[in-house]
Amino acid sequence: MESQRVEPVIKFALLEDILNLARANSLWPMTFGLACCAIEMMAAGASRFDLDRFGAGVFRPSPRQSDVMIVAGTISKKMAPAIQMLWEQMPNPKWCIAMGNCAISGGPFEYDGQYAIVPGAHLIVPVDITVPGCPPRPEGLIQGILALEDKITGGEHRNYLRRFRRMGGRG
Ligand code: SF4
Repeated sequence: MESQRVEPVIKFALLEDILNLARANSLWPMTFGLACCAIEMMAAGASRFDLDRFGAGVFRPSPRQSDVMIVAGTISKKMAPAIQMLWEQMPNPKWCIAMGNCAISGGPFEYDGQYAIVPGAHLIVPVDITVPGCPPRPEGLIQGILALEDKITGGEHRNYLRRFRRMGGRG
């Protein structure tokens, strides 16, 4: 059964915009991988690709300190309840990226008669962004993180950076 997202009852528009800008620029992914796609996720965090440039390089060792779950790899039915429990332990607001074909739709392991794989992370947690590929390269994950930042801010993230550069900033 899919986990539900909890939204606040009252929102203040300007405050929410400022908070969302801060959230988008300081995403904290959970240290969590399931299969081969996780190797590419680790590469994205290493020096050659450097996720820190986008504020998303602080992989946290606990779901209670994380706001992004990157489902990177094949989801076995045995693992699904543990993934749901990790999602429930993350505080709101939180987001989910399905990285790779396995996390999106079961990938090469989804075929008639298979009994061991959950065909898609969206069946157990709410997915915000999908990054296709088998495996996707680190650049693909970075593009997915930028897409998530745009989703969190409603596109204001890029506008803010453009305005900042016009003012002579180095962002
Ligand atoms: S999508 Fe491909 S690389 Fe990623 S976990 Fe599945 S089989 Fe491995």
